[in-house]
Amino acid sequence: MKKILTGVKPTGDQMHLGNLLGAVLPFKRLAEKNDAAIFIADLHALTSVKNAADLKRNTHEMALTYFSIFGIDTPVHIFRQSDIPLIPKLNWILNNVTPYSLMLRAHSFKDALQKQKILEKSLFPKIVFDMEKKCLKAGISDKAIIFEKTQEAYDNLYGNAPNLNMWIFNYPILMAADILAYDTDIVPVGADQKQHLEMTRDIAKAFNKTYKTDIFKLPSEYIEKDVSILPGIDGRKMSKSYDNFIGIFDDDKTLKKKVMSIVTDSKGFDDIKDPETCNVFALIKTFATPDRTESIRAKYLVPGYGYGHAKLELLEILTEYLRPYHDARAMLEKHPELIEQKLQEGARIMNERIEAKMEEVKEVVGL
Ligand code: ADP
Repeated sequence: MKKILTGVKPTGDQMHLGNLLGAVLPFKRLAEKNDAAIFIADLHALTSVKNAADLKRNTHEMALTYFSIFGIDTPVHIFRQSDIPLIPKLNWILNNVTPYSLMLRAHSFKDALQKQKILEKSLFPKIVFDMEKKCLKAGISDKAIIFEKTQEAYDNLYGNAPNLNMWIFNYPILMAADILAYDTDIVPVGADQKQHLEMTRDIAKAFNKTYKTDIFKLPSEYIEKDVSILPGIDGRKMSKSYDNFIGIFDDDKTLKKKVMSIVTDSKGFDDIKDPETCNVFALIKTFATPDRTESIRAKYLVPGYGYGHAKLELLEILTEYLRPYHDARAMLEKHPELIEQKLQEGARIMNERIEAKMEEVKEVVGL
């Protein structure tokens, strides 16, 4: 039995069907045969969520989402990162063996730095210049209005850019603490986290070498291969950044609106249609039983079946597929105390593990 651990930042993004199929359900399957834990990385979220009410709401929403999918009695330890007080302590100890040059290479830091440079050096004056030109062309000469419009254009472009601060730079070291604290073997993550896992191993090696020990186990990342990419309602990869997703907890009305707006070609009711190139069918075959998929495939190949029909069938299929998650959520919304209780239980187990590890660490470093 391996120790599996992953963390997810509570940034307020809704979980969508792509995340469910590509990341969450594979994790759930892996968790069934192993000792698994998943935590809400609220300390990491502080890098971008700068409002207390938002962070609290996002954290609760994430716990609600995971318990609805895993079941409230799941053996997976679900916990909040900030309920583990020794994590920042381990983070500090690891800071002292982490080369500065290693952190300079972090993609996330380099991206943030790049955005900040562009923002300060070139694009900001350009935004001002362009907006002035645009306003003058439109006959707007009022300086206050031009200023307001410039501000708006600036916010639109950079509203979501991270402001560069020390946490962004230290982010991978906090992540290393999260992973090394519990003797983790395997960390299931998206491909974008690969470098953070390499850094975690580098930091573990640096610590072990500095103190001539082997107390930190070197973890491996687990990146799900061959996940089929689920299309969104516009046919591109379903993604929050394209705003083309179907949320796991979309209500009936929203779900219907989204399903009915899935992009198709313009073939009419009596035309023969190709199921293999149809976005509606791609979703049908992912979520329907094989029998139902085949019966719908057959309907595509004969006249008298329109995309509207296929969409209504898909709506029924998705409603059915998502029902257990919706029911679980409705129950947990009535009993938030159950969620809190389980989060505390998860934290208790993980605190025991990190406390044991920190005894070893303290011994080794002389604290
Ligand atoms: P988004 O594209 O919405 O920002 P993320 O990058 O946060 O999604 O995705 C987290 C994980 O969810 C990814 O590592 C991937 O495994 C899975 N995932 C996201 N979108 C899809 C999709 N359309 N099809 C399959 N898996 C997906």
